[in-house]
Amino acid sequence: MIYTPIIGLEIHIEPNTKSKMFCACPQDHFGKKPNSQTCPICLGLPGSLPFTNREAINKTIKLGLALGSKISEFSKFYRKHYFYPDLPKGFQTSQKDEVLCLGGSLFGKRINHIHLEEDAGKLMHVNNQSLVDFNRSGCALIELVTEPDFHSTDEVLAFTKELQLIARYLDISNADMEKGTMRLEANISMLNAKNSNAKLPDYKVELKNINSFKFLEKAINAEIVRQESELSKGRKIIQETRGYDENKKTTFSQRVKEGSEDYRYFPEADLPPIEIGELKIKNLKLKIPELPQAKRERFQDIYKLSKDYIEILVSDLNRANYFEDVIANGMKQPRLRSLHSLHSFAMTVANLMINKHLDTDYPEPAGLARKIIELEDRSYESAENTEEAVRQVLQTNPEIIKKYQNGQTQVLSFLIGQVQKILRGSGNPKLIGDLLKSKLEK
Ligand SMILES: [Zn+2]
Repeated sequence: MIYTPIIGLEIHIEPNTKSKMFCACPQDHFGKKPNSQTCPICLGLPGSLPFTNREAINKTIKLGLALGSKISEFSKFYRKHYFYPDLPKGFQTSQKDEVLCLGGSLFGKRINHIHLEEDAGKLMHVNNQSLVDFNRSGCALIELVTEPDFHSTDEVLAFTKELQLIARYLDISNADMEKGTMRLEANISMLNAKNSNAKLPDYKVELKNINSFKFLEKAINAEIVRQESELSKGRKIIQETRGYDENKKTTFSQRVKEGSEDYRYFPEADLPPIEIGELKIKNLKLKIPELPQAKRERFQDIYKLSKDYIEILVSDLNRANYFEDVIANGMKQPRLRSLHSLHSFAMTVANLMINKHLDTDYPEPAGLARKIIELEDRSYESAENTEEAVRQVLQTNPEIIKKYQNGQTQVLSFLIGQVQKILRGSGNPKLIGDLLKSKLEK
């Protein structure tokens, strides 16, 4: 292959704030009755005045801190002008130049910046009619822009899945592609490896509306194949926006871009600039939990679990927390501590959660710890172990046996106790008694 894919990403994440970006309407619009969550501000009615949602700013900063971005002390909103029926104001309030977070990286891929903006409404096309739902209009939207550092679909997948997990760990968004709370656009071009002077190709194709991980993989692969085939035929690739046709398994042209669009950006005079002090950044830093990669490394270090087990546990923060709660609870119990090393107990817990799904049967971590004691006792008091314990007790207590055989049958309870001691306190006394009697009376 003489062409190397060069891919940059623009990822939109809808934060799980209570209200929209510049008004008090609810942010969560999924499945709501069309146009039931609007007000003069998000409908862009004349005279309405927006106000900034602090929660959205904090959540964006948290994402920036988690990815190692520099948080801007001073940042501003701009009006980005364009016309579309789902944009009632005729401009989108967004950021430019003075954005909230600059730089950062994830899995070695550089992040250019992260900014905050508002979402547009939604168009629905029904029976040759176009309907507009403004519930999403004005919703807070975080946009993360990467450098063109990706060279394969696998790298894009790994990055976006990790970003989704980080957003969930930070509790800033469920980042669900199917529900549209995480949306992806990929800028794709191919670099001719023979042409070693150029760092980047002189064009890029924007792939839009990628709404699932499966779709992402297919769409980017299809576009790489298309560009490769065009270039190898000596054709030039047009700078354009393309979509992906699931049925034809190819991308198709949506809009040809001639030069860069002029959005006539200008500062939003209705909103004050955002000033963020050091103390605020410090306080938000304290709220950043242990992130997935750090958790993977710690689980590897202290529990020594397999990579597969670690991935299953870490891919869901609730599951990871539950796992550690069972460990903490279990290791407080002398009984489990005497039977297990931390590693062997961690293996037992992970196995019961992953292969037997006992975490769903025991929603309380302490419940699963108790269940483990029960399971281990049951396996310990197996017939074989009981038989062996009885044999040991009979062998080591000749004096007591003589007493029993001389008619002092009350010593039986002492012998049962000795057997139970070997069985770590478990075992059914009636069964042990019967077994002892049958041996003693032989
Ligand atoms: Zn509103």
